[in-house]
Amino acid sequence: MKKPTTNRNPFKIYCDVFGHNYQVSKKVTSHVKEYTCKCCKKQLTTNSNGNLTELTPKYKEINMLLEDFHTRRMLRLKNKSFVSSIY
Ligand SMILES: [Zn+2]
Repeated sequence: MKKPTTNRNPFKIYCDVFGHNYQVSKKVTSHVKEYTCKCCKKQLTTNSNGNLTELTPKYKEINMLLEDFHTRRMLRLKNKSFVSSIY
């Protein structure tokens, strides 16, 4: 038996009344994080001003680039300290 699907999301109403229940879903850099509401799955991210904004496809793209840049830099720093610990 399949449950009838409705367009109304009961969690959305809960969020409208009680506010969203955001949790960090992804750490992009030490300053930029992505948040997802546990109830309605709405996503937020930190923008360049340090404020929270809705995670649009554009911001997702920016965060992916940021993460890539951040990972490379961390990797380079790691290698550098590895080399310097040898010599
Ligand atoms: Zn919500």
